[in-house]
Amino acid sequence: MSKEKIIPYKIYLEEHEMPDSWYNVRADMKNKPAPLLNPGTLQPLTLEEMSGIFCEELCRQELDDTTPYFPIPEEIKKFYKMYRPSPLVRAYCLEEKLQTPAKIYYKFEGNNTSGSHKLNSAIAQAYYAKNQGLKGVTTETGAGQWGTALSMACAYLGLDCQVYMVKCSYEQKPFRREVMRTYGANVTPSPSDTTEVGRKILKEFPGTTGSLGCAISEAVEAATSQEGYRYVLGSVLTQVLLHQSVIGLESKAAMDKYGIKPDVIIGCAGGGSNLGGLISPFMGEKLRGEADYRIIAVEPASCPSFTRGKYVYDFCDTGKVCPLAKMYTLGSSFIPAANHAGGLRYHGMSSVLSQLYADGYMEAVSVEQTSVFKAAEEFARVEGILPAPESSHAIKVAIDEALKCKETGEEKTILFGLTGTGYFDMVAYERYNNGEMSDHIPSDEELAKGFAGIPRFPGNDI
Ligand SMILES: *Cc1c(COP(=O)(O)O)cnc(C)c1O
Repeated sequence: MSKEKIIPYKIYLEEHEMPDSWYNVRADMKNKPAPLLNPGTLQPLTLEEMSGIFCEELCRQELDDTTPYFPIPEEIKKFYKMYRPSPLVRAYCLEEKLQTPAKIYYKFEGNNTSGSHKLNSAIAQAYYAKNQGLKGVTTETGAGQWGTALSMACAYLGLDCQVYMVKCSYEQKPFRREVMRTYGANVTPSPSDTTEVGRKILKEFPGTTGSLGCAISEAVEAATSQEGYRYVLGSVLTQVLLHQSVIGLESKAAMDKYGIKPDVIIGCAGGGSNLGGLISPFMGEKLRGEADYRIIAVEPASCPSFTRGKYVYDFCDTGKVCPLAKMYTLGSSFIPAANHAGGLRYHGMSSVLSQLYADGYMEAVSVEQTSVFKAAEEFARVEGILPAPESSHAIKVAIDEALKCKETGEEKTILFGLTGTGYFDMVAYERYNNGEMSDHIPSDEELAKGFAGIPRFPGNDI
């Protein structure tokens, strides 16, 4: 007789069980994600062109869609061991509260000072910059988690770190800024007058409170105009998904220890890095025909790139200085409505996830923010963790799926990514608690304005 193992509240891996390599899901994709294009020539970006902006080793990772495993350098593994493995938690208390037969698991990435999964890629990117002998890196940050993560990684490795922070976040989240400065980063509100593109945007849109796309343009300019600097990005790029595969590899190893197989895997999607990382080993099995999983991306109804965007080549930034990427996009000028509180505000989506979605390997849903905060509250009250608003998009859909199981009596196993904590999002929680939070679903007319800015060239029709 087989004895079923009792599953603990938290499944940890031993250090020696942590992954030694990152997994590159592109290696198993039949339809590879479309390459980045040089916006001038409309030809695939070469390693040479790319390495003016990004670190060389990261460019190699970006361009490699055939090598399945990349060994994790020792120095990065050492750093990972300070805050990883992250726990895989069985949400027994939430299950009980919901009275569902579903088994719910979440992978919690909020156990480090940056408060999110972003540190997994920050340390990798900073490591390759350091290895190349660079002086420092530049980047943008929206809500602040990426900037914080990168500041931590740069401080550890002794690299200079320059962060362009979306102005409204800079003003609304002064403590995020101070965390970054504590780690030695130089933080500039964007748009700023320190770059040409920033000055141009300020002139065109006086009083603008900025956007991610705009901060990216400034950070790229800052990198390319200073000797010994490169630009790094915390999401969207395939190299970032590669580093974030550590989330999925750990989750899978922990589940395998107890013979658990998820039926449904859910993650929030901003630029796609945590979701791409969480699903990668499972998606690999699905692509190779070894197993099947239902995979759901959750995005805000106010920034619905998967569910209402176009799958075309578009600019990655407002200033149009970056390469073109083929992705689900709302147009590089799209900015979510001012009442949108919860991150996940990028106009585009990872080209890897975009291709997988286009090929039917995953689903996407959009949810409204008041329902997201309601799910966050419900989760916080039983599971003890105050979740980030971004992560709460995944919570919302995990709860919905668990409630469906309650109706049908199915004992499905649900895995979702709990990407981080919400301690710096208390202004948003305050609005929710005061009943002042509202929803905004952009009209087709509003979206059309964003689509109008998508570049037109043969083969790129919207
Ligand atoms: C940045 C962030 C996200 C969204 O980014 P992805 O690249 O889509 O993963 C989600 N949750 C938290 C806590 C974040 O900081």
